[in-house]
Amino acid sequence: MSPRLICKDCQRPESTYLCEFIVQRGSGYGLTILQHPKEARHALSSAPLLARSIIGSRLVVGECFEPATLLGSKWQQNSVLLYPGEPSIRVSQIVDAEIKQLVVLDGTWRKTAKLLHLNPWLLNLPRLALQQSQRSRYRIRKSPRADGLSTIEATVQALNVLHSCQDYDAILGAFEQMIDQQIAAMGDILELS
Ligand SMILES: [Zn+2]
Repeated sequence: MSPRLICKDCQRPESTYLCEFIVQRGSGYGLTILQHPKEARHALSSAPLLARSIIGSRLVVGECFEPATLLGSKWQQNSVLLYPGEPSIRVSQIVDAEIKQLVVLDGTWRKTAKLLHLNPWLLNLPRLALQQSQRSRYRIRKSPRADGLSTIEATVQALNVLHSCQDYDAILGAFEQMIDQQIAAMGDILELS
């Protein structure tokens, strides 16, 4: 069997390319996705799609991060963490404050907890927790997040509430396509949840 071609942009093998489904949007907030190395190896990771969809965003893989290098010297004043817990901050407070950066942790609940543990500076950031609303479209993979959403869904939801004039839902098209492709490859029998 000849090796399948891997797309340079979406990093997907031929016949599962996602490039044509990727919709790009700008954001008034800088988006930094911190990804645990273990999640980076997961074929159904949604973070690469998210990073390609938000113009100017960054996907950084690792376990230990230096906040000033990552977010600049004012990181403590201008960054918010998308994660449940204290100290929590409301959307209206974010819009009023000088917050300009959204930090997202990507990985299973265990791995993101580990990222928090290894990077105690993250505990200083105010946290934006999402309201429970839509059901995850992950379907074939147990959601890695405590709020039951994939990283791309949680971030799209956060961007929707942070930008009252923009709708980011179109970004989820590539994610849904990825899930559909996977279901097709596995057979319908696995679409149980
Ligand atoms: Zn591609």
